[in-house]
Amino acid sequence: MLNYENLAKQDKEIFDIVKREMTRQTEELELIASENYVSKAVLEAMATVFTNKYSEGYPGHRYYGGNQIIDEAENLAIERAKKLFQAEHINVQPLSGSPANAAVYMAFLKPGDKVLGLKLDHGGHLSHGHPVNFSGMLYDFVQYEVDQNTGRIDMEKVREIALKEKPKMIVAGYSAYSREIEWQKFKEIADEVGAFTFADIAHTAGLIASGEMDSPIPFFDVVSTTTHKTLRGPRGAMIMCKEKFAKQVDRAVFPGMQGGPHEHIIVAKAVAFGEALQPEFKQYAKQVIANAKTMASEFIKFGYRIISNGTDNHLMVVDMTSKGLGGRDCEQILDKIGISVSRSTIPNDPNPPMNPSGVRFGTPAITTRGLKQEEVKIIVALINKAIENKDEINILENIKKEIKEMCLKFRN
Ligand SMILES: *Cc1c(COP(=O)(O)O)cnc(C)c1O
Repeated sequence: MLNYENLAKQDKEIFDIVKREMTRQTEELELIASENYVSKAVLEAMATVFTNKYSEGYPGHRYYGGNQIIDEAENLAIERAKKLFQAEHINVQPLSGSPANAAVYMAFLKPGDKVLGLKLDHGGHLSHGHPVNFSGMLYDFVQYEVDQNTGRIDMEKVREIALKEKPKMIVAGYSAYSREIEWQKFKEIADEVGAFTFADIAHTAGLIASGEMDSPIPFFDVVSTTTHKTLRGPRGAMIMCKEKFAKQVDRAVFPGMQGGPHEHIIVAKAVAFGEALQPEFKQYAKQVIANAKTMASEFIKFGYRIISNGTDNHLMVVDMTSKGLGGRDCEQILDKIGISVSRSTIPNDPNPPMNPSGVRFGTPAITTRGLKQEEVKIIVALINKAIENKDEINILENIKKEIKEMCLKFRN
Protein backbone atom coordinates (compact mmCIF):
# COMPACT_ATOMS: atom_id res chain seq x y z
CA MET A 1 0.00 0.00 0.00
CA LEU A 2 1.13 3.52 -0.70
CA ASN A 3 2.42 5.16 2.46
CA TYR A 4 4.02 8.19 0.77
CA GLU A 5 7.11 7.92 2.98
CA ASN A 6 9.42 9.28 0.30
CA LEU A 7 7.10 12.12 -0.55
CA ALA A 8 6.83 12.99 3.14
CA LYS A 9 10.62 13.08 3.49
CA GLN A 10 11.40 14.95 0.29
CA ASP A 11 8.57 17.43 -0.15
CA LYS A 12 6.74 18.20 3.04
CA GLU A 13 4.80 21.05 1.49
CA ILE A 14 3.09 18.84 -1.09
CA PHE A 15 2.80 15.90 1.31
CA ASP A 16 0.85 18.08 3.76
CA ILE A 17 -1.52 19.14 1.02
CA VAL A 18 -2.04 15.51 0.00
CA LYS A 19 -2.73 14.55 3.61
CA ARG A 20 -5.26 17.34 4.03
CA GLU A 21 -7.09 16.26 0.89
CA MET A 22 -7.12 12.65 2.12
CA THR A 23 -8.70 13.85 5.37
CA ARG A 24 -11.26 15.94 3.46
CA GLN A 25 -12.22 12.94 1.34
CA THR A 26 -12.58 10.79 4.47
CA GLU A 27 -14.52 13.22 6.63
CA GLU A 28 -16.83 14.83 4.08
CA LEU A 29 -19.62 13.50 1.88
CA GLU A 30 -19.24 13.45 -1.87
CA LEU A 31 -22.51 13.96 -3.75
CA ILE A 32 -20.98 15.23 -7.00
CA ALA A 33 -22.50 12.98 -9.64
CA SER A 34 -19.32 12.72 -11.75
CA GLU A 35 -17.02 11.68 -8.88
CA ASN A 36 -16.16 8.38 -7.24
CA TYR A 37 -13.45 6.71 -5.12
CA VAL A 38 -11.10 4.28 -6.84
CA SER A 39 -10.00 1.14 -5.03
CA LYS A 40 -6.57 0.94 -3.40
CA ALA A 41 -5.55 -1.50 -6.15
CA VAL A 42 -6.43 1.06 -8.84
CA LEU A 43 -4.55 3.74 -6.91
CA GLU A 44 -1.47 1.54 -6.66
CA ALA A 45 -1.62 0.68 -10.37
CA MET A 46 -1.61 4.41 -11.23
CA ALA A 47 1.58 4.86 -9.24
CA THR A 48 3.63 2.28 -11.17
CA VAL A 49 6.83 2.72 -13.23
CA PHE A 50 4.79 2.67 -16.44
CA THR A 51 4.74 6.45 -16.07
CA ASN A 52 8.42 6.37 -17.17
CA LYS A 53 7.70 4.89 -20.59
CA TYR A 54 6.98 6.28 -24.04
CA SER A 55 4.77 3.99 -26.15
CA GLU A 56 3.42 6.02 -29.06
CA GLY A 57 1.50 3.72 -31.40
CA TYR A 58 -0.50 0.61 -30.56
CA PRO A 59 0.35 -2.88 -29.23
CA GLY A 60 2.64 -4.60 -31.76
CA HIS A 61 3.21 -1.30 -33.64
CA ARG A 62 5.07 1.12 -31.39
CA TYR A 63 7.38 3.96 -32.34
CA TYR A 64 9.69 3.31 -29.35
CA GLY A 65 11.60 0.21 -28.25
CA GLY A 66 11.11 -1.68 -25.01
CA ASN A 67 7.34 -1.91 -25.22
CA GLN A 68 6.82 -5.68 -25.09
CA ILE A 69 5.58 -5.61 -21.49
CA ILE A 70 3.50 -2.47 -22.03
CA ASP A 71 1.84 -4.22 -24.97
CA GLU A 72 0.70 -6.99 -22.64
CA ALA A 73 -0.81 -4.46 -20.25
CA GLU A 74 -2.62 -2.47 -22.94
CA ASN A 75 -3.92 -5.64 -24.61
CA LEU A 76 -5.26 -6.85 -21.29
CA ALA A 77 -7.04 -3.53 -20.72
CA ILE A 78 -8.63 -3.79 -24.19
CA GLU A 79 -9.60 -7.43 -23.71
CA ARG A 80 -11.29 -6.74 -20.36
CA ALA A 81 -13.09 -3.65 -21.68
CA LYS A 82 -14.41 -5.70 -24.61
CA LYS A 83 -15.80 -8.28 -22.20
CA LEU A 84 -17.37 -5.54 -20.14
CA PHE A 85 -19.08 -3.67 -22.99
CA GLN A 86 -19.33 -6.27 -25.79
CA ALA A 87 -17.79 -3.76 -28.19
CA GLU A 88 -16.10 -4.79 -31.45
CA HIS A 89 -13.15 -2.40 -31.18
CA ILE A 90 -11.77 -0.41 -28.25
CA ASN A 91 -9.12 2.28 -27.92
CA VAL A 92 -8.04 2.76 -24.28
CA GLN A 93 -5.58 5.62 -24.90
CA PRO A 94 -7.74 8.79 -24.67
CA LEU A 95 -6.45 10.94 -21.81
CA SER A 96 -9.88 12.12 -20.68
CA GLY A 97 -13.47 12.54 -21.83
CA SER A 98 -13.09 15.77 -23.77
CA PRO A 99 -9.98 14.63 -25.74
CA ALA A 100 -11.80 11.36 -26.49
CA ASN A 101 -14.71 13.30 -27.94
CA ALA A 102 -12.33 15.48 -29.96
CA ALA A 103 -10.88 12.29 -31.45
CA VAL A 104 -14.36 10.95 -32.26
CA TYR A 105 -15.27 14.12 -34.14
CA MET A 106 -11.92 14.06 -35.93
CA ALA A 107 -12.48 10.43 -36.96
CA PHE A 108 -15.95 10.99 -38.43
CA LEU A 109 -16.23 14.65 -39.43
CA LYS A 110 -14.57 17.52 -41.25
CA PRO A 111 -14.48 20.99 -39.65
CA GLY A 112 -17.73 22.79 -40.43
CA ASP A 113 -19.83 19.60 -40.60
CA LYS A 114 -23.23 19.74 -38.98
CA VAL A 115 -23.79 17.82 -35.72
CA LEU A 116 -26.84 17.45 -33.47
CA GLY A 117 -26.23 17.60 -29.70
CA LEU A 118 -28.19 18.32 -26.52
CA LYS A 119 -28.00 21.90 -25.26
CA LEU A 120 -25.62 22.36 -22.31
CA ASP A 121 -28.22 23.94 -20.02
CA HIS A 122 -30.54 21.01 -20.74
CA GLY A 123 -28.00 18.45 -19.50
CA GLY A 124 -25.49 18.21 -22.37
CA HIS A 125 -21.70 18.47 -22.06
CA LEU A 126 -19.41 21.34 -23.12
CA SER A 127 -17.86 19.04 -25.71
CA HIS A 128 -21.27 18.57 -27.39
CA GLY A 129 -21.15 21.87 -29.23
CA HIS A 130 -21.01 24.64 -26.66
CA PRO A 131 -19.73 27.86 -28.31
CA VAL A 132 -16.82 28.29 -25.81
CA ASN A 133 -15.61 24.71 -26.46
CA PHE A 134 -13.52 23.44 -29.40
CA SER A 135 -16.55 21.39 -30.50
CA GLY A 136 -18.70 24.48 -30.96
CA MET A 137 -15.87 26.35 -32.67
CA LEU A 138 -14.86 23.64 -35.16
CA TYR A 139 -18.22 22.07 -36.00
CA ASP A 140 -21.63 23.42 -36.88
CA PHE A 141 -23.67 22.21 -33.91
CA VAL A 142 -27.43 22.36 -33.85
CA GLN A 143 -28.86 21.73 -30.40
CA TYR A 144 -31.91 19.77 -29.34
CA GLU A 145 -33.61 20.23 -25.96
CA VAL A 146 -35.55 18.37 -23.31
CA ASP A 147 -39.30 18.93 -23.11
CA GLN A 148 -40.07 21.80 -20.73
CA ASN A 149 -42.91 19.94 -19.02
CA THR A 150 -41.62 16.37 -18.76
CA GLY A 151 -37.88 17.15 -18.50
CA ARG A 152 -37.32 14.28 -20.94
CA ILE A 153 -36.01 14.14 -24.48
CA ASP A 154 -38.89 14.17 -26.93
CA MET A 155 -37.79 11.82 -29.73
CA GLU A 156 -40.39 13.22 -32.16
CA LYS A 157 -38.79 16.66 -31.75
CA VAL A 158 -35.32 15.19 -32.28
CA ARG A 159 -36.58 13.57 -35.48
CA GLU A 160 -38.10 16.83 -36.73
CA ILE A 161 -34.82 18.70 -36.17
CA ALA A 162 -32.82 15.89 -37.79
CA LEU A 163 -35.04 15.81 -40.89
CA LYS A 164 -34.79 19.57 -41.23
CA GLU A 165 -31.05 19.96 -40.52
CA LYS A 166 -29.67 16.74 -42.06
CA PRO A 167 -26.67 16.49 -39.68
CA LYS A 168 -23.59 14.33 -40.39
CA MET A 169 -23.67 13.04 -36.80
CA ILE A 170 -26.12 12.78 -33.90
CA VAL A 171 -24.74 12.85 -30.33
CA ALA A 172 -26.61 11.30 -27.39
CA GLY A 173 -25.44 10.73 -23.80
CA TYR A 174 -25.29 13.53 -21.23
CA SER A 175 -23.89 15.06 -18.04
CA ALA A 176 -27.07 16.00 -16.23
CA TYR A 177 -29.92 13.85 -17.54
CA SER A 178 -31.52 11.37 -15.19
CA ARG A 179 -33.53 9.18 -17.55
CA GLU A 180 -32.96 6.18 -19.81
CA ILE A 181 -31.97 7.18 -23.34
CA GLU A 182 -33.82 5.69 -26.31
CA TRP A 183 -30.71 4.53 -28.15
CA GLN A 184 -32.53 2.50 -30.76
CA LYS A 185 -34.81 5.43 -31.68
CA PHE A 186 -31.76 7.67 -32.06
CA LYS A 187 -30.28 5.09 -34.42
CA GLU A 188 -33.48 4.91 -36.48
CA ILE A 189 -33.59 8.70 -36.83
CA ALA A 190 -29.89 8.79 -37.78
CA ASP A 191 -30.45 6.13 -40.44
CA GLU A 192 -33.34 8.14 -41.88
CA VAL A 193 -31.03 11.13 -42.49
CA GLY A 194 -27.77 9.25 -43.09
CA ALA A 195 -26.01 10.47 -39.92
CA PHE A 196 -23.37 8.75 -37.81
CA THR A 197 -24.44 7.88 -34.26
CA PHE A 198 -22.17 8.87 -31.36
CA ALA A 199 -23.01 7.96 -27.74
CA ASP A 200 -21.12 9.64 -24.91
CA ILE A 201 -21.72 7.44 -21.85
CA ALA A 202 -19.18 9.23 -19.62
CA HIS A 203 -21.62 9.36 -16.70
CA THR A 204 -23.43 6.04 -16.95
CA ALA A 205 -20.70 3.66 -18.20
CA GLY A 206 -20.58 1.68 -14.94
CA LEU A 207 -24.35 1.29 -14.88
CA ILE A 208 -24.35 0.18 -18.52
CA ALA A 209 -21.41 -2.22 -18.10
CA SER A 210 -23.22 -3.94 -15.24
CA GLY A 211 -26.41 -4.29 -17.27
CA GLU A 212 -28.40 -1.95 -15.03
CA MET A 213 -29.04 0.54 -17.84
CA ASP A 214 -29.59 0.13 -21.58
CA SER A 215 -26.46 0.03 -23.74
CA PRO A 216 -26.02 2.00 -26.98
CA ILE A 217 -23.29 -0.36 -28.16
CA PRO A 218 -25.51 -2.72 -30.22
CA PHE A 219 -26.89 0.26 -32.16
CA PHE A 220 -24.36 3.09 -32.27
CA ASP A 221 -21.39 3.56 -34.60
CA VAL A 222 -19.12 4.96 -31.91
CA VAL A 223 -19.26 5.31 -28.12
CA SER A 224 -16.95 7.28 -25.84
CA THR A 225 -16.73 7.15 -22.07
CA THR A 226 -14.65 8.45 -19.23
CA THR A 227 -13.32 5.74 -16.93
CA HIS A 228 -13.50 7.73 -13.68
CA LYS A 229 -17.20 8.32 -13.07
CA THR A 230 -19.62 5.42 -12.39
CA LEU A 231 -17.04 3.04 -13.90
CA ARG A 232 -14.84 3.80 -10.85
CA GLY A 233 -11.48 3.69 -12.60
CA PRO A 234 -8.64 6.18 -12.95
CA ARG A 235 -9.18 9.61 -14.53
CA GLY A 236 -9.19 8.84 -18.25
CA ALA A 237 -11.36 7.72 -21.16
CA MET A 238 -11.80 5.25 -24.01
CA ILE A 239 -13.53 4.95 -27.36
CA MET A 240 -15.52 1.94 -28.57
CA CYS A 241 -16.69 1.43 -32.14
CA LYS A 242 -17.78 -0.99 -34.80
CA GLU A 243 -14.84 -2.83 -36.38
CA LYS A 244 -15.32 -1.00 -39.69
CA PHE A 245 -14.42 2.31 -37.97
CA ALA A 246 -11.47 0.90 -35.98
CA LYS A 247 -8.70 2.32 -38.19
CA GLN A 248 -10.11 5.84 -38.44
CA VAL A 249 -10.76 6.00 -34.68
CA ASP A 250 -7.26 4.76 -33.81
CA ARG A 251 -5.68 7.20 -36.26
CA ALA A 252 -7.67 10.08 -34.78
CA VAL A 253 -6.45 9.30 -31.24
CA PHE A 254 -2.85 8.80 -32.36
CA PRO A 255 -1.31 10.55 -34.23
CA GLY A 256 -4.39 12.78 -34.71
CA MET A 257 -4.98 14.11 -31.21
CA GLN A 258 -2.37 12.69 -28.85
CA GLY A 259 1.25 11.67 -28.56
CA GLY A 260 2.41 9.14 -26.00
CA PRO A 261 -0.37 7.34 -24.11
CA HIS A 262 -0.35 7.37 -20.30
CA GLU A 263 0.37 3.70 -19.76
CA HIS A 264 0.36 3.95 -15.95
CA ILE A 265 -3.28 5.06 -16.29
CA ILE A 266 -3.96 2.32 -18.84
CA VAL A 267 -2.81 -0.39 -16.40
CA ALA A 268 -5.05 1.18 -13.76
CA LYS A 269 -7.91 1.11 -16.29
CA ALA A 270 -7.23 -2.62 -16.72
CA VAL A 271 -7.46 -3.12 -12.94
CA ALA A 272 -10.73 -1.14 -12.77
CA PHE A 273 -12.21 -3.14 -15.68
CA GLY A 274 -11.23 -6.32 -13.82
CA GLU A 275 -13.15 -5.06 -10.79
CA ALA A 276 -16.18 -4.11 -12.90
CA LEU A 277 -16.28 -7.68 -14.29
CA GLN A 278 -16.82 -9.08 -10.78
CA PRO A 279 -20.36 -9.89 -9.54
CA GLU A 280 -19.92 -7.35 -6.69
CA PHE A 281 -19.85 -4.55 -9.24
CA LYS A 282 -23.34 -5.44 -10.46
CA GLN A 283 -24.50 -5.19 -6.85
CA TYR A 284 -22.76 -1.84 -6.60
CA ALA A 285 -24.50 -0.48 -9.70
CA LYS A 286 -27.90 -1.69 -8.47
CA GLN A 287 -27.28 0.05 -5.13
CA VAL A 288 -26.17 3.30 -6.84
CA ILE A 289 -29.53 3.45 -8.63
CA ALA A 290 -31.55 2.39 -5.57
CA ASN A 291 -29.83 5.12 -3.53
CA ALA A 292 -30.54 7.74 -6.22
CA LYS A 293 -34.22 6.77 -6.44
CA THR A 294 -34.54 7.07 -2.66
CA MET A 295 -32.72 10.41 -2.71
CA ALA A 296 -35.09 11.77 -5.38
CA SER A 297 -38.25 10.65 -3.59
CA GLU A 298 -37.00 12.09 -0.28
CA PHE A 299 -36.30 15.47 -1.91
CA ILE A 300 -39.79 15.41 -3.42
CA LYS A 301 -41.27 14.65 0.04
CA PHE A 302 -39.58 17.80 1.36
CA GLY A 303 -41.13 19.84 -1.46
CA TYR A 304 -38.21 20.14 -3.88
CA ARG A 305 -38.84 20.09 -7.63
CA ILE A 306 -36.74 17.54 -9.50
CA ILE A 307 -36.25 17.82 -13.25
CA SER A 308 -38.23 14.97 -14.89
CA ASN A 309 -39.64 14.25 -11.41
CA GLY A 310 -37.20 11.45 -10.57
CA THR A 311 -34.32 9.35 -11.85
CA ASP A 312 -33.48 6.11 -13.65
CA ASN A 313 -29.74 6.42 -13.02
CA HIS A 314 -27.24 7.76 -10.47
CA LEU A 315 -28.09 11.47 -10.58
CA MET A 316 -30.79 14.10 -10.37
CA VAL A 317 -31.03 17.84 -10.96
CA VAL A 318 -32.93 19.62 -8.19
CA ASP A 319 -34.50 23.01 -8.87
CA MET A 320 -33.44 25.01 -5.81
CA THR A 321 -35.63 27.96 -6.72
CA SER A 322 -38.44 25.75 -5.40
CA LYS A 323 -36.90 26.65 -2.00
CA GLY A 324 -36.07 30.24 -2.90
CA LEU A 325 -32.34 29.60 -3.44
CA GLY A 326 -29.89 29.61 -6.31
CA GLY A 327 -27.64 26.66 -7.16
CA ARG A 328 -24.47 28.42 -6.04
CA ASP A 329 -26.09 29.53 -2.77
CA CYS A 330 -27.00 25.93 -2.09
CA GLU A 331 -23.51 24.70 -3.04
CA GLN A 332 -22.06 27.15 -0.48
CA ILE A 333 -24.48 26.16 2.30
CA LEU A 334 -23.71 22.47 1.79
CA ASP A 335 -19.97 23.22 1.79
CA LYS A 336 -20.45 24.48 5.35
CA ILE A 337 -21.82 21.09 6.47
CA GLY A 338 -19.19 19.01 4.69
CA ILE A 339 -21.14 17.97 1.60
CA SER A 340 -19.80 18.59 -1.93
CA VAL A 341 -22.27 19.09 -4.76
CA SER A 342 -22.15 20.86 -8.11
CA ARG A 343 -24.46 23.65 -9.17
CA SER A 344 -26.32 22.99 -12.38
CA THR A 345 -28.52 24.74 -14.88
CA ILE A 346 -32.11 23.60 -15.30
CA PRO A 347 -33.74 23.46 -18.75
CA ASN A 348 -34.38 27.01 -20.02
CA ASP A 349 -32.78 28.39 -16.87
CA PRO A 350 -33.80 32.00 -16.23
CA ASN A 351 -30.74 32.51 -13.99
CA PRO A 352 -27.12 33.08 -15.11
CA PRO A 353 -24.65 30.12 -15.30
CA MET A 354 -22.63 31.47 -12.32
CA ASN A 355 -25.65 31.06 -10.04
CA PRO A 356 -28.02 28.79 -11.96
CA SER A 357 -31.30 27.47 -10.57
CA GLY A 358 -30.27 23.89 -9.90
CA VAL A 359 -27.95 21.56 -8.05
CA ARG A 360 -26.92 18.18 -9.41
CA PHE A 361 -26.77 15.37 -6.85
CA GLY A 362 -25.31 11.91 -7.45
CA THR A 363 -24.83 8.67 -5.52
CA PRO A 364 -21.80 6.85 -7.08
CA ALA A 365 -19.29 7.97 -4.43
CA ILE A 366 -21.41 7.46 -1.30
CA THR A 367 -22.44 4.03 -2.60
CA THR A 368 -18.78 3.05 -2.96
CA ARG A 369 -18.39 3.92 0.73
CA GLY A 370 -21.23 1.52 1.57
CA LEU A 371 -24.06 3.95 2.28
CA LYS A 372 -27.55 2.60 1.60
CA GLN A 373 -31.12 3.94 1.47
CA GLU A 374 -31.31 4.37 5.24
CA GLU A 375 -28.33 6.76 5.26
CA VAL A 376 -29.58 8.52 2.12
CA LYS A 377 -32.80 9.42 3.93
CA ILE A 378 -30.79 10.90 6.81
CA ILE A 379 -28.60 12.85 4.38
CA VAL A 380 -31.54 14.43 2.55
CA ALA A 381 -33.16 15.37 5.87
CA LEU A 382 -29.88 17.01 6.97
CA ILE A 383 -29.54 18.86 3.65
CA ASN A 384 -33.08 20.16 4.01
CA LYS A 385 -32.43 21.19 7.61
CA ALA A 386 -29.28 23.06 6.56
CA ILE A 387 -31.12 24.87 3.79
CA GLU A 388 -33.97 25.85 6.09
CA ASN A 389 -31.50 27.10 8.72
CA LYS A 390 -28.90 28.53 6.39
CA ASP A 391 -28.09 31.52 8.62
CA GLU A 392 -27.98 29.59 11.93
CA ILE A 393 -24.27 28.91 12.38
CA ASN A 394 -24.78 26.65 15.41
CA ILE A 395 -27.28 24.44 13.63
CA LEU A 396 -24.98 24.16 10.60
CA GLU A 397 -22.05 23.25 12.90
CA ASN A 398 -24.09 20.46 14.49
CA ILE A 399 -25.17 19.10 11.13
CA LYS A 400 -21.52 19.12 10.03
CA LYS A 401 -20.67 16.99 13.07
CA GLU A 402 -23.42 14.50 12.24
CA ILE A 403 -22.18 14.24 8.65
CA LYS A 404 -18.62 13.68 9.85
CA GLU A 405 -19.73 10.92 12.23
CA MET A 406 -21.54 9.16 9.42
CA CYS A 407 -18.44 9.48 7.22
CA LEU A 408 -16.19 7.98 9.88
CA LYS A 409 -18.59 5.02 10.18
CA PHE A 410 -18.27 4.44 6.43
CA ARG A 411 -14.56 4.87 5.86
CA ASN A 412 -13.38 4.43 2.34
C1 LIG B 1 -17.56 14.21 -17.77
C2 LIG B 1 -18.01 14.22 -19.18
C3 LIG B 1 -17.10 14.37 -20.24
C4 LIG B 1 -15.69 14.89 -20.11
O1 LIG B 1 -14.84 14.34 -19.33
P1 LIG B 1 -13.45 15.04 -18.91
O2 LIG B 1 -12.70 13.84 -18.53
O3 LIG B 1 -13.80 15.95 -17.79
O4 LIG B 1 -12.91 15.75 -20.09
C5 LIG B 1 -17.56 14.22 -21.54
N1 LIG B 1 -18.85 13.97 -21.78
C6 LIG B 1 -19.76 13.86 -20.80
C7 LIG B 1 -21.18 13.59 -21.17
C8 LIG B 1 -19.37 14.01 -19.47
O5 LIG B 1 -20.30 13.95 -18.51
